[in-house]
Amino acid sequence: MKFNTKTIHGGQHEIDPAYGSVMPPIYQTSTYSQTTPGGHKGHQYARSSNPTRSALEGSLAALEGGNNALAFGSGLAAIDTVLKLLKAGDEVVSTNDLYGGTYRLFTQIFEKFGVKFHFVGMQSAEKVASYINENTKLIWVETPTNPMLNIIDIKGIAKVAKANKVLLGVDNTFATPYLQQPLDLGADIVMHSATKYLGGHSDVIMGALIVKDQELADRLYFIRNSSGAVPGPQDCFLVLRGIKTLHLRVQRHCENGRAVAEFLRSHPKIDKVYWPGFEDHPNHDIARSQMKDFGGMMSFTTVEDSYEGAVKVVEKLKIFTLAESLGGVESLAGHPASMTHGSIPKEEREKNGIKESLIRLSVGIEDEEDLIADLKQALD
Ligand code: PLP
Repeated sequence: MKFNTKTIHGGQHEIDPAYGSVMPPIYQTSTYSQTTPGGHKGHQYARSSNPTRSALEGSLAALEGGNNALAFGSGLAAIDTVLKLLKAGDEVVSTNDLYGGTYRLFTQIFEKFGVKFHFVGMQSAEKVASYINENTKLIWVETPTNPMLNIIDIKGIAKVAKANKVLLGVDNTFATPYLQQPLDLGADIVMHSATKYLGGHSDVIMGALIVKDQELADRLYFIRNSSGAVPGPQDCFLVLRGIKTLHLRVQRHCENGRAVAEFLRSHPKIDKVYWPGFEDHPNHDIARSQMKDFGGMMSFTTVEDSYEGAVKVVEKLKIFTLAESLGGVESLAGHPASMTHGSIPKEEREKNGIKESLIRLSVGIEDEEDLIADLKQALD
């Protein structure tokens, strides 16, 4: 099955046995009747499993080329579950430029339990390898990175992970499986904030993990069932519905992304535009080799290069909404230093290039001319 068919049919083996409904019903139940202890029809209690959630998980596994998928109450709950594979004394090598909430989870929750993190610019696999020792259990990669749009060579890092018998987890939220499939490039775990492109309509908070290996899936399932961070059936239904148009939406995000990035770059008030589709982006060749297109996420600074200048621009936007989050049909603008990345200390942020003047855009699927006109009036 090709990708565009998979978004609609992938992993959907069972037609509703009761009435043949084309979409899986929302099984709004916490428990299931049993004829005798253990005599159930595949589901016992909804923390452990729910048919609507199973339908979504089938779809997620198919899209990422995995054998198993697990849905969670949020993207961070999914990452939290990966980290619970570790124990005190274990070490993690993580991308340095990453979502602020992930950084906060690592440094303010898991460091307290004795896990050690190394935040590393992952532009060279050798550099990543130099941080690995006998305690290293996980490499955590976000690519494209949030918010600087760096690209990390998943295949190259996967070789280092395999050689050292370390798990490789990739946050694929920005790229989506339409653009990039990390399991095929050698990753062990793919993670999504399904809140973003998978849901696609800014109406759900959800996370997901997808893996190929059955034993790893069983360990993750055990942690989720023991810790309990599951999504509700209505949210599973919404994300499953969102996925059915993923290919169309992401294609348009990419087209609009290119138009907006090129407009910004040509504007005299703009200093830098960070978007991996530019041929002179430092990691453009890697992006080209591991992604199908370059996406609708980008960041930029103006020549004024100040906090006040950035605030003036985002306050003047009319079609772009000033808001946290990304990946919905509507265009959003954000100020990473005070919003999505506010939980990273200023010195750390600035080391990674997240200036007070940086603005991040999630370019939606509106008409590109309206988006460009909106940016133009705000900059003017
Ligand atoms: N990973 C990335 C790249 C994100 O941008 C986000 C949220 O913005 C998350 C993970 C966390 O996901 P959630 O907000 O669904 O918990």
